[in-house]
Amino acid sequence: MGTVILGSGIAGISAGYHLEKEGESVVIYEKNNDWGGLCGNFTINGFRFDKFVHFTFAPDDYIINIFEESSPTYPHPPVSYNYRNGYWLKHPAQNNLHPLPVDEKVKIIEDFINRPQKDISEIENYEEWLRVQYGNCFAENFPFKYTRKYWGVEPKELETKWVGNRLHVPPLSEVLRGSYEEQTENFYYTKFMKYPKKGGFRSILNNCRKGLDIRFNKEVVKINPQEKTVTFKDGTSAKYTRLISSLPLPEIVKMIDGIPPEVKEAGQKLMHTSGYMVSLGFKRPDVAKHLWFYIYDEDILPARVYSPNLKSADNVPEGCSSLQAEIFFSNKAKIPPADDVLKNTIEKLVKMGLFREEEIAVKDIRFEKYANVIFDKDIYKNRMIVLDYLNKVRIESIGRFGKWEYFWTHQAFQDGRRSADLLKGCAG
Ligand SMILES: Cc1cc2nc3c(=O)[nH]c(=O)nc-3n(C[C@H](O)[C@H](O)[C@H](O)COP(=O)(O)OP(=O)(O)OC[C@H]3O[C@@H](n4cnc5c(N)ncnc54)[C@H](O)[C@@H]3O)c2cc1C
Repeated sequence: MGTVILGSGIAGISAGYHLEKEGESVVIYEKNNDWGGLCGNFTINGFRFDKFVHFTFAPDDYIINIFEESSPTYPHPPVSYNYRNGYWLKHPAQNNLHPLPVDEKVKIIEDFINRPQKDISEIENYEEWLRVQYGNCFAENFPFKYTRKYWGVEPKELETKWVGNRLHVPPLSEVLRGSYEEQTENFYYTKFMKYPKKGGFRSILNNCRKGLDIRFNKEVVKINPQEKTVTFKDGTSAKYTRLISSLPLPEIVKMIDGIPPEVKEAGQKLMHTSGYMVSLGFKRPDVAKHLWFYIYDEDILPARVYSPNLKSADNVPEGCSSLQAEIFFSNKAKIPPADDVLKNTIEKLVKMGLFREEEIAVKDIRFEKYANVIFDKDIYKNRMIVLDYLNKVRIESIGRFGKWEYFWTHQAFQDGRRSADLLKGCAG
């Protein structure tokens, strides 16, 4: 018996690494046959694809050094684009309106100047936040459309605390300047996005993963906090003295023996997106023109497309290039079949002029049930009910889906580390 960690994503790996450093004995159980969770990757005929876009922009030296010593990175300036209705606008679109037709620019700028005035503290939902920040015309034609595609819900269904510095709010001078010419200034929330030179995104964790006892194909289906036992789908079970879980809250509430119905219900009310990844490899070196870009058109299913080979040439065979398109749905939506999504994605990207169908050397579609946490108006209440209960039965919940937070990888890593520190404190 010892510490059991559920899930070998970055949060679980970090918890395991930091506990072992303190001399604790740890076993990690993972339902898949490989480690990394959302930081993981897969390779098809020499084309490596991460699970969704993934760069690191960890701000603190401790984490930067761990990642960098595991795998040296390339710094990429965060230059990306927006596609809407045949026009390509540098990101952020509100700062680079110049390619749009004059009438549309005039309307956007007019509405920006006359945008509704409201104190931020009185804003009730994301729809209102967008109207107040950008004016009606831009809000309705850009972020409203993107919200439906990326979050799978209407903007009025979201609250606003998650926004933070993720969206740039320009002064009028920037909007005007950008309506005449493309701007060179970086308005993104980070200066550089870093990506490992070799081995795909998860190789930032190589040193931490080394030496950890990870048991694969071990899907947890039941947890008994009284007997301190976890049971797996294959019928086996394991005892623990301490339990750290990075499992999604809506899943863990279904597994715990004796959980009160109101806690289970709160966990199952938590909303999230799921995502398809359409991964495409090409025999041409130059298909990918942008590190990543956003698509606003509603008839084109992908919300975002990025290029694995522009992140690192190590992700493709020599002379080739690759794209991965991300398509999201809320957990309340009816998810279309993979074949339909693959077909729509290829057809539409061809129509956008990115490549010809016969140039595709590799095509793949796969699905992740948990992509993003949705910040609906009840998230904080429901999340607290579940986390309080887990705390009571001494299950320490970590990571993006264990804390039910909009964590970047460095935050999930930090959360795993914090949890190890806490346990160290308890043990002492
Ligand atoms: C579209 C998208 C783009 C992103 N881009 C970036 C980015 O550019 N930069 C960045 O820093 N962050 C990015 N993130 C966020 C980042 O992926 C997460 O913060 C981080 O990977 C979460 O790690 P985790 O360990 O908390 O969760 P996970 O990676 O989900 O790990 C949980 C693990 O638990 C396992 N598991 C689940 N259920 C069970 C079970 N029943 N039994 C056993 N094991 C189980 C899973 O298989 C998984 O391995 C992005 C996320 C998404 C969705």
